[in-house]
Amino acid sequence: MNYQKDAPPPYGPAIPSGPPPPMMNPATIVVPMTFGPDSQTLVCPSCHTTINTSIRKESTTKTHLFALLLCIIFCPLVCLPYCIDSCQASNHYCPKCGAYLGTYDS
Ligand SMILES: [Zn+2]
Repeated sequence: MNYQKDAPPPYGPAIPSGPPPPMMNPATIVVPMTFGPDSQTLVCPSCHTTINTSIRKESTTKTHLFALLLCIIFCPLVCLPYCIDSCQASNHYCPKCGAYLGTYDS
């Protein structure tokens, strides 16, 4: 009997020999998806520093619409929406690197 023994493959099955990939740290602070009207504490995704967001009030379309509406009704009060917080968006910025982090639009 002449058994034709199969030659062993040149390369065995791929067995990972290196160390397993490091696990992600589950305690990593995730930047909240929503922002409120006030400053929030978070880790800046840009410079990875724990910071309190700095807020800059900026006029939005709603601000201008309120101004237009008030202009029609009360001409002297046209500047009022620019002074009301709820008519403006709260943009959050990192005070360290100035990175834009998110917006709260009331
Ligand atoms: Zn930053």
